[in-house]
Amino acid sequence: AEIANRYDVVCVESLDMKSMANRGFGNGKATLDNGYGMFLSMLEYKLSDRNKYLVKVDKWYPSSQICHCCGALHPEMKDLSIRKMTCDCGLTIGRDQNAAINILNEGLRLLAGAA
Ligand SMILES: [Zn+2]
Repeated sequence: AEIANRYDVVCVESLDMKSMANRGFGNGKATLDNGYGMFLSMLEYKLSDRNKYLVKVDKWYPSSQICHCCGALHPEMKDLSIRKMTCDCGLTIGRDQNAAINILNEGLRLLAGAA
């Protein structure tokens, strides 16, 4: 409810649950993904109730590999153990924070295209 009230648009990274299952993750992972899917459905319902939007950004969008500041691609960020992105443009930012900003920007771009 907190998320639904504070923002007009919520952007999330969509997960392809089928391909994840095919990759044979253990039970713990499968439960986590089901929970996330349920969370998204509930959030979408709450938002649509308030004339707000839930935008799902394709999971293949390389949100953690693009510098949100200058747009440079950082293929080295495919390595999940790298927690910070350092870019030639001078930006140093946490991996998840940069990805979140990119998902938001991409979500807003998709929304603008759909409207
Ligand atoms: Zn940059």
